[in-house]
Amino acid sequence: MSFIELKNIIAGYTEIPALRNITIRLEEGEIVTLVGANGAGKSTLVKTISGLLIPAAGVILFNGEDISRLSPADRIHRGIVHIPEGRQIFAGMTVSENLALGAYSVVEEARRERQLRYVLELFPFLRDRLDDIAGNFSGGQQQLLAIARGLMSDPRVLLLDEPSLGVAPLLVAEIFKLISKLRSEGLTILLAEQNARQALAIADRGYVFENGIVSLQGSAKDLLNSHEVAEKYLGIDSHIVGEIADGADKARLLRQYIW
Ligand code: ATP
Repeated sequence: MSFIELKNIIAGYTEIPALRNITIRLEEGEIVTLVGANGAGKSTLVKTISGLLIPAAGVILFNGEDISRLSPADRIHRGIVHIPEGRQIFAGMTVSENLALGAYSVVEEARRERQLRYVLELFPFLRDRLDDIAGNFSGGQQQLLAIARGLMSDPRVLLLDEPSLGVAPLLVAEIFKLISKLRSEGLTILLAEQNARQALAIADRGYVFENGIVSLQGSAKDLLNSHEVAEKYLGIDSHIVGEIADGADKARLLRQYIW
């Protein structure tokens, strides 16, 4: 039995499903990454696991329990925390208020305090900024705060949707390092990322999404070395490739400049 199993998931927003029969698994303590172009279905899958979207068909098992139809709050109680794309921190509130909201599901005060100590150890820059308004932070700092807020509920599984989006390159490296660290502390992580190279570099396994299906899957190492994966990403990076040289061998350029 896997820690999380999704079997034959069909889900979406209209009569045309964004996810068409997805079957994936996460083992405890793994980083599993979902890579794929814009609109491939990664966020939709993350939302079905956190409960923001109820699948039209299929089943989601967490430790063997069918959670497919549980509310998001019930899933948070089980330890599944979603850090959505675009951060969505409470921009008008202070850091400390944002962190407190992340711990709303933790009833015991001592546990909330322990989590706060843990989170401030992981994110020392927040220590002196507890009274600062979160909206004044840079994009990268807001992303770190969003992760910190998610950790306040002491999760077992972290669902991270595009944590590198809109973040300066230096901080992106820091965010990926942090994600690795969280795995080494026992968290199970699902990482949806368009930044395939960096995501695969820290992941154990990966799934490549294309138009609502899994087109490729395997160990992160194999995917990272796969020419097929490079090809899949031409779509994402075609604007960069296009700028480099019109009509040239895109796969070669992609390997040279992106990978
Ligand atoms: P991105 O990185 O842009 O989030 P993604 O791989 O996460 O890409 P999804 O956001 O899951 O892709 O989108 C999958 C499909 O569902 C796309 O065709 C998208 O247009 C559609 N979609 C996403 N959100 C909605 C929504 N709220 N209403 C209707 N259609 C949606």
